[in-house]
Amino acid sequence: MLLKLLLFLGALVRVTEPAPRCEPGQETLGQCQTGEKAKCVDITLSSCSDVSYTKTMYPNLLDQKSREVVELSSEYILMSVLHNLLQGECNPDLRLLSCSILAPRCEKDKMIKPCRHVCENLRKNCLPAFDTIDMAWPYFLDCDRFFAGEEEGCFDPLAKLRGEPELTEEDLLVEVPTTLIQFTHHLYSKMVSILKKTASRCSHIARTYSIGRSFEGRDLFVIEFSTNPGHHDPMKPEFKYIGNMHGNEVVGKELLIYLAQYLCSEYLLGNPRIQTLINNTRIHLLPSLNPDGYELAAEEGAGYNGWINGRQTAQNLDLNRNFPDLTSEVYNRAGLRWARLDHIPIPQSYWEGKVAPETKAVMKWMRAIPFVLSASLHGGELVVTYPYDFSRHPLEEKMYSPTPDERMFRLLAKAYAGAHPVISDKLEARCGGNFVKRGGIINGAQWYSFTGGMADFNYLHTNCFEITLELGCEKFPLEEELYSAWHENKESLLTFMEMVHRGIKGIVSDKFGNPIKNARISVKGIRHDVITAADGDYWRLLPPGTYIISAHAIGFSKVMKRVTLPAKMKRAGRVDFVLRSLDTKPKHFLRGPMEDIYERYDPLEHFDPHAQHTQSEPREEGGQPTRHNEKPWWWSYFSSLGQHKPLWLLKQR
Ligand SMILES: [Zn+2]
Repeated sequence: MLLKLLLFLGALVRVTEPAPRCEPGQETLGQCQTGEKAKCVDITLSSCSDVSYTKTMYPNLLDQKSREVVELSSEYILMSVLHNLLQGECNPDLRLLSCSILAPRCEKDKMIKPCRHVCENLRKNCLPAFDTIDMAWPYFLDCDRFFAGEEEGCFDPLAKLRGEPELTEEDLLVEVPTTLIQFTHHLYSKMVSILKKTASRCSHIARTYSIGRSFEGRDLFVIEFSTNPGHHDPMKPEFKYIGNMHGNEVVGKELLIYLAQYLCSEYLLGNPRIQTLINNTRIHLLPSLNPDGYELAAEEGAGYNGWINGRQTAQNLDLNRNFPDLTSEVYNRAGLRWARLDHIPIPQSYWEGKVAPETKAVMKWMRAIPFVLSASLHGGELVVTYPYDFSRHPLEEKMYSPTPDERMFRLLAKAYAGAHPVISDKLEARCGGNFVKRGGIINGAQWYSFTGGMADFNYLHTNCFEITLELGCEKFPLEEELYSAWHENKESLLTFMEMVHRGIKGIVSDKFGNPIKNARISVKGIRHDVITAADGDYWRLLPPGTYIISAHAIGFSKVMKRVTLPAKMKRAGRVDFVLRSLDTKPKHFLRGPMEDIYERYDPLEHFDPHAQHTQSEPREEGGQPTRHNEKPWWWSYFSSLGQHKPLWLLKQR
């Protein structure tokens, strides 16, 4: 990209050698000044040859007096390379808008200003793209300063882009797709700008945030959908999708980018299913957990990426082998009758090994939000797997190793596989493995056993149930295959999110109504408890059936309830518990059973993803040069082009 841009700039400088002095006839071309009253002249700027009008006027809106002054200006050069700088984002719109200032429309020797609302709309949509490359919004696109209101008689410089061919009545009867999504691959910067743009389009129900940074310093961006973005609402379940953990498995990443746009558009359009989902669920989409690996894989390109390059992080770590192995711990404890088999603390020895910043960021995220359900999106096979991924016998590499929640996990995996036309198609040829007889799902360890995976860690360290989606034979398919990937997975992605509303949920409180945090919810016959979150709220995924549920917390009596979940129930049954204080010992009995776990040495408590080695934000100290004074990578090209450095491209710090 950089090289392309350099070549482009070089070419631009060569063609913009100063024009000769004023020759007869050139006045009308606007190539020199004559001192006469300004008149309409032909547009001869090569970067503006495709505007919707033919005449302009000098001096232009920036008071540039001739064509050659314009062509040598930083404004014109910027405009000509914006397409490359922003990787196609917001173009040609931005270029046409710039032309309306540098080569304003002229009619009957009068200048017509472009419309302010057009500028404002574009600014709103495109500011994130500028943020991505750390560039300020160009001063000459200041909507208040250079643009005019409709009452003043302005023109829409982008009208041409909107000019669709005239619709016949027949066309109008054809169903118009409700959401326009570009089914392409997205490099990191493009992904970030689409996520930000989507969040700003749906700002009342969406936001983006970063859970930390990759080894090379890329933010791990999440887009969140909720009616209360940024906050956990009591009783509202939290859901996450994580894509691209293996950097070269890219379908999941793209699907999540499309899903974000789909959720936003459909919510705005009033789609009742999407509105119900977002009104009752807090959804977090992390399209790329391994952006460093992705960029490496993308260099080889779609269809050419081998099986390996970009799978690992820039530190050469496989993220799905980098989580603490709590599964072995559970196998060791299983024989001990009173040992807990859930919310297992991270062993001290884990921190002595190499822990990726990406892994730490996810673990900290999982600690901060009481996730209930999750899926990790992979590629290379066509199957849905569920925990445990690590075999219960160390020597058996393909051994059925179910969790106590085997029935629920199967239901979850089937929910995804069953709604997927290819995974569920019995005749479909598979990539290598044959999962047809199993309905497209398999216990992870039975497929192949591995340790340090994310799904096992979710289940054994937190309340969250996570399954793994293998979305296709090709890890990095050609762009033209992306639309069908979306088509095949859309229903599954939605159905699986809706599964977060299965089972029961409720609040555990004392008799005064004070919520009890970290209380345990146990299900008779399933040796795996969930614990309540900060508001005393809990979610317990369960398949249909009759259960004895109990809630208990240290210092309180245990309360049991019998609950029946009918087969067709699609909403979590509400089961609250009021616990009676035992009143025997001092206040610290109010502490939940989890507190002791996190009081141990635990780097996650002190881990600040933004304070990592080279990725740290330098502080201003003692007048030392800091990164705040450093210029973005594109700066040297603009500053070398003329005597006036375009300082206006730099953001105010
Ligand atoms: Zn994978």
